[in-house]
Parts: sequence; C-alpha cells; structure tokens
Amino acid sequence: MTYRVAKVIVDVPSRETDRPFDYLIPDEMQGWIEIGSRVGVPFGRRTVQGFVLSLHQESGMDPRRMKPVQELLDLMPPLPRDLVKLAEWMSRKYACSMISALQAMIPAALKGKAERYISVSGFEGEDEVEPEAEGSRAKDLFAIPTMLTGEEEEIVAYVKASGQVTMDHLSGRYPDRAGEIKGLIQRGILTESQMIKDKVRKKTVKTVVAVVSGEEAEEALKSFSGQARRQKEVLQFLLEVGAPLTLQEVLSTLRVTAGTVSKLTEKGFAVIEDVEVFRDPYQGRRFKSSEPLERTPEQEVVFGKVTEVLDDRSYGVFLLHGVTGSGKTEVYLQTIERCISLGRQAIVLVPEISLTPQMVERFKGRFGGKVAVMHSRLSTGERYDEWRKIREGRVQVAIGARSAVFAPFADLGLIVMDEEHETSYKQEETPKYHARDVAVMRARQHEAAVILGSATPSLESYHAARSRADDDFAPLLLEMKQRPSGSRLPGVHIVDMREELRDGNRSMFSRALHEGISSRLEKGEQTVLFLNRRGYSTFVMCRTCGYVAGCPECDISLTYHQKSNNLRCHYCGYAVPAPSVCPECGSEHIRYFGTGTQRVEGELAKLFPGIRVIRMDVDTTTEKGSHEKLLQAFREKKGDVLLGTQMVAKGLDFPDVTLVGVIAADTALNFPDFRSAEKTFQLLTQVAGRAGRHQLPGEVFIQTYMPEHYSIIHASGHDYGSFVREELNHRKTLHYPPYSRLILVTLSHEQLPLLLRMAENFAGDLRAKAQRLGWYGNLDRFAEEALDILGPVASPIPRIKNRYRFQCMVKYRGPLDAVQLVRETAAATLDNLRDASLQISIDVDPQMLM
Ligand code: ADP
Ligand code: ZN
Ligand code: ZN
Repeated sequence: MTYRVAKVIVDVPSRETDRPFDYLIPDEMQGWIEIGSRVGVPFGRRTVQGFVLSLHQESGMDPRRMKPVQELLDLMPPLPRDLVKLAEWMSRKYACSMISALQAMIPAALKGKAERYISVSGFEGEDEVEPEAEGSRAKDLFAIPTMLTGEEEEIVAYVKASGQVTMDHLSGRYPDRAGEIKGLIQRGILTESQMIKDKVRKKTVKTVVAVVSGEEAEEALKSFSGQARRQKEVLQFLLEVGAPLTLQEVLSTLRVTAGTVSKLTEKGFAVIEDVEVFRDPYQGRRFKSSEPLERTPEQEVVFGKVTEVLDDRSYGVFLLHGVTGSGKTEVYLQTIERCISLGRQAIVLVPEISLTPQMVERFKGRFGGKVAVMHSRLSTGERYDEWRKIREGRVQVAIGARSAVFAPFADLGLIVMDEEHETSYKQEETPKYHARDVAVMRARQHEAAVILGSATPSLESYHAARSRADDDFAPLLLEMKQRPSGSRLPGVHIVDMREELRDGNRSMFSRALHEGISSRLEKGEQTVLFLNRRGYSTFVMCRTCGYVAGCPECDISLTYHQKSNNLRCHYCGYAVPAPSVCPECGSEHIRYFGTGTQRVEGELAKLFPGIRVIRMDVDTTTEKGSHEKLLQAFREKKGDVLLGTQMVAKGLDFPDVTLVGVIAADTALNFPDFRSAEKTFQLLTQVAGRAGRHQLPGEVFIQTYMPEHYSIIHASGHDYGSFVREELNHRKTLHYPPYSRLILVTLSHEQLPLLLRMAENFAGDLRAKAQRLGWYGNLDRFAEEALDILGPVASPIPRIKNRYRFQCMVKYRGPLDAVQLVRETAAATLDNLRDASLQISIDVDPQMLM
C-alpha cells in the first residue's frame, strides 16, 4: 500500500498548531516514513521538525496545495506507534498540546533545530539532479562565469567543492563579503535551504582492521623494507589480534604515529573505519554480581501474584505496601527476571534522588549489560545512547527517573515504580503528567503488569486499592510487614521541644538527641541528622527594622547563596550581591540565615569539638558526582554525622548508623497544602527507616513543637494504617483527593486589573457551563457527578517575572470530563481577549499547590 499523505504535528508551540497538518510524501520516502517518524517539513517560511501521526492514501486537501515532506530525520522512527497513541491520551488527560507530549518522550538530543545551509543552485548532490533542472536559470547563470566577479567566483567554487555549508560557516570564512553572498543568493546562484540538525550526533571511533589474510598477508609482511619496520609491526599486530582495534589502542600499544597506520591503509593492507559506539556512563565500572535470594513467605505471595499476570500476558496493577527493608527491591528483581525470560522488557522507575550508584548496582549486578540507566546527571549524549539501546532492543531493562516511563520498548511486560508516593513523579512543567498514570496506561496498551511499591503509599493509590470493587483498574493491594533480616524497626522517641525550652534548653538539640550523639561518638557508631528543607528558607532579614530582601519582579524573598555571596530569586534568576548594611535603615544587623544545614553544622562543631560532619544539601551537591562522593565518604566512616535535607532520607543503607535525629519534624506541617500531613508522615517514616537496618539496633529521635499531631504520633509508631484512617477522614470531610479530583488553573498577565477581570470571567464562564450540564453545585450533596470552582484568588506566589498570577481550583468527582470543560473555557477566554500576553496554565491532579 502506498501512502501519499502524512499527518504531521509540527514543533511550533501554539494553540493554532495543536493539530496535525497534511504533507505529501515524496516518492523517495515511500516505505521509509512511518507513524512516529521524525521529519523536517516546511512551515510558513521556515523548516521545522515534526512527528508523523498517521499515513493516508489521500487527504481532503488539493494535493497541489500541499507541501511535500522535506526530510526524514531518522531511519527508525524514534517513537513506536504505542507512544504516539499515548501522546494523544496525554493530551486529553492533561490538557497539554500534542507536541509537548511527543517531545517529552524523546531524548533531548533529538530535539533538533533547523539550520540554514548554502549550496550552489542545481548542484546539491550532483548525481541527483533531475532532468528538468537541466538548463534551468541557475545553471545558465553558472555557465556564464563572466557574470561573476573574481570574489564571487571564489565563493561559488568553495561552496561547490564543499557540497553544502552552513550559513554560519560561510559567513565565518568570508566575514567581509556579506554583500556578495547575499547577492549570489538573490540572483539564484546560491541556494539557501534549511535542514533539521540534531543536538547530538552518534559517537564514532576510528578503528583499524587488517584486510589481508593467508598468503596475501605473508606477501604483505615480506614487502616491507627496513624503513617500513614500524608499518610491518602494526600489520603483524593487527593480524595477530584478528579483529578491529581502535586507532587509539594501536597507537598507544605500539607507540607508532597515525602516519604509520595511514601508510598501511594507503598500501591497501588495512582500513580505517568510523565505527559507531555507545557512550557508556558506567564504563569501566565493575558491578558485584548477585543471585536471586530464596523468597520469604511474604515475598512468595507477591511474586506469585505478579508472575501470574506476567505468564498470562494480561494487564494488572499491584500496590506493594512493604515496610522499609521488607525486601521489595528483591521482589522487583525477581519479577523482572521472569519478565525477561518471557522475552519481554521491563521499566524500573525510581525518584531521581534515589537513583544512587547502590541502586543502579543492584540492577546491573543482577542483569549486567541488559540494563540501560537514564538520569539527569548524564550528558545529553550519554542519555541519547542509553535511549538508543532501548529503542534498538539491545537492553531489556530500563531504570530511571520519571521520564523513563516513556522507554520505547517493543514488548513491555512490567513497570516497577518504587516509592510510588513521591511527588517528583509528577512533572511540574508542561506536559504536567504523572508517571504513575502514564505507567498504568502503558501497561494497558501492552497488556503488562505494574508494581507500585512503597512503605507509605500515596492516599490516592491506597484508597483506590481499598475500593477496588468500584473500579476494575484499581490496584490490588499486597503487603509485606516483615524484614527478612529479622531486624526490628527502630524505636522512635518523640521529643517535645516546648518542654526543652521550658527547662531552659535553647539549643536546637534536645538533651536526648545531644546525649545520643555523644554516645555514638564514643562507640564509633554513626548518626544521620535530618532537616526538613521546606520551611528553612535562607532569606536575609534586618534584625533592626525587619526588612526582608525580596525580588523586585516576583513577590518572593531572595535566597542567600554562600558560595557566590549573593542573593538570588529562585523563580526568575534575578541576583544581587549580598548587602552588608540594611538598604532600608542602614543597620549592620542584617543577618543571613544561611541554609538550615549550615547552622546545624556550626552548632555541632560548637557542642562536639572535633566532630566530623558530612553535610549534604543543595550547596554541597551541585557538582556532578559530589552526592556520590559524600555518601562514599560516610560509608568509609570518614564522618561521624551525615547531615542533610531530603537527600539523606532516601534509600541509603549504612550498617553503622544506629541513630537518626530529625531536627524539626513539623516545619512542613504549617504549609497551606492539604497534603502536608501526608508528606510529613512519609518523610518521618522514611527517615526512621534509615536506622538499625542491620545487626546493630537503631534509635530515632523526632524533635517537634507539635508532638500531639497525628502524623508525628503514627510515624513514630510505624503505623501507616492508623495514619491513613485518620487522614482519609479529614480528606473526606473537606472533599479533597482521593474523594475528589483537582484541576489548578493559573492565569497570569502583567496588568493586574485586566488579569483580575479575565480570571473572574473565566471562573464565571466555567460555573455557567457546569451549571448547564447539571454538575455545578455543592460537593456536599451526594450527587455522583459534582463540580465546584474555588477562586479566583491570588496565587501563593502572586507575581513571577513581573507577571501577576491568579488561580482557580476546580474540585470535582464522578466520571465527568472536567478537563475538557476547563480546556474549552480557557480557550474561549483567550479567544475573547485576543491578547497574546494572557497565559492560562492548566495543572490536572496538581501536586504542588504552592
Ligand atoms: P526494600 O526495598 O523493601 O527496602 P530490600 O529489597 O532492599 O528492601 O531488602 C532489604 C534487605 O533484605 C536487603 O539487604 C536484602 O538483601 C535483604 N533481603 C531481601 N530479600 C531477602 C530474602 N528473601 N532473603 C534474605 N535477605 C533478603
Ligand atoms: Zn533595617
Ligand atoms: Zn524573581
């Protein structure tokens, strides 16, 4: 079947272009262009990148009015069909554009930009010149060199010899001949064209291989005279090895020059070739290999349920609720092994900060070269190569953060999502997708299994699993309560800091934690101190007049950065040197509340002279690999205390850590976010899980000013069940998820009065529409379908980059299509105003309410 027309989504982000455009498929691309192909197409006066959504024999459009596809960018489409379908689903589910969904699925290396090329008219690829082009105007002109000045001739000759040069290259070579070059283009002698250029190329290395053998080789070896002794050595070496060697290897092993090798190739005894290689971020690293452990009875149950679905090739989602150290990872490994043995592939999703070398080692150790790893610390090229290994079927397991959910496997059998409750699985930029929902959707497409694992499942997942009867797609709850090591969960003590204060202790350490640290120092055991980053901001305040340094363009306080000694805005990047006197009152008592961790570090040094503290926070982990180095140092016991923020709470496993201290457990509890209790509970449970994972028993101190808060009490008792019961009650009363769903709509504009009017129009319009559909009304009534609109109110950060922000929160329940309603209303608001600077952003199932 020949297809003449391709429907293409172009990479031009605007509302008008969020639909496919028709392009003709040129004959030479027949059979090459597929669904998911990346193409360069003319769009207006530009050449842009696009993705083929579908192929057709004809289109409703007049073929003469359609433009042809200009170039096909990859031999193998970067997007398999299922991902193209998935993008359509994402665009509906998250109210995002198709192009943003498609772009999220491919590595940054393939986000090509058009580049301008210059060639001699009619000479681009000489043997491809079509007969009609003969005698064309351009050729005639070129045939009359007298029409060209000497300088012009030189340029034309240069371009002709090069075949094609970039505009940049040409202007760099002839910096003072812009006029001539432009004239040549105007007269049609040179042609300007555009092509999409990828950001990263495949990497190649030069390799050398002997191309003679047997008698021929004997002859060849005899032919070298004394002078060519070195060439002979090289040939001998190549023949001995009998396989291609990198040029570098040959040069360094034999200590010969490249000239020597090229002489050999000139004589036809060897050839040098560019061979494609994969950049391997873990090259040269040995991974301790590991064997499957004999499953505990709890693991056996989970393993059985999951493999049943795998063996049946059916769809199934499991919520694996297992305490820290209960052996969840071992279950992941063994189910993945089964998946691979069935000839299918698996994706493992891990929160970015848990993607530590130890984590990678567990997977590489079990599956070796079958694993591709994708994380943000890789270079663009490394990421691209890991991705290609997946696309080309060279690996069977992909492990990575959020975006690895799009790993383009052909026959996906299993998706594991570890720590499924983590907010980092939700992308905060467009497309604002949640990897958990995407994982479930992909599993449905592939008839695959999903394991959502956590010691503290999100309330959404847990609630869905418990009310499974109402929903076939809800996860099946599986539990693991025991640790295979037999080690017990550590004893957790809540320390009431108000009492400390009453007793005259003004230090940030309670007496109990202080004693705990001293005794660990004596015994040579280790301590982890955790500080909740949220709430410990690093702003600058004048203690005389109360002035706080704020960003002039965003209504938010500036953050102090010690290294550069400046103040920076985290939203727009505005930066100023840190002042030494207060700009308001001139007082010198202007204090930098350095990062919370720095203060704790200072205090530790005062209280325990000589203590070795390893501090891990945003300031000490900016460099690539620093995170890893700090942890390694702590593992080697080069530190008595590991002090840090969220980073120390995750997945770390140190045998000599017997004490964990939480400096201030409640800093996040006062946040205006309905998930703050859940977040606090998850964090404390996780931190508490760091102590006593091995032989030595562990102890945890949680310091707080709110010791009676249920999230703190239940975390100290390792009691997920009680916490969830209490929290679900609150959520139900207030109609928060999981009892309703949310859509956060943020409108922004530079002019406040106009913005306010538009925000009110939007909300009013939405209310009216919902009313007509019979949805609008009080969620308190027991209607199955209900929708409520809160706001507009100023956003928690009311101004960013000089744009004011207002938000509306849509709360709804039932199977109604609220996303579509919001999307339509937003589009209508924008159409009415016709002011391109009004922006409306839609966040479906928002995680960040700040
Ligand atoms: P989780 O992922 O739930 O935190 P892990 O899979 O990391 O738990 O297991 C915790 C510890 O228990 C690890 O040291 C692991 O090697 C060990 N372990 C897991 N499963 C078994 C088993 N079946 N038999 C013995 N040890 C096990
Ligand atoms: Zn002041
Ligand atoms: Zn700012």
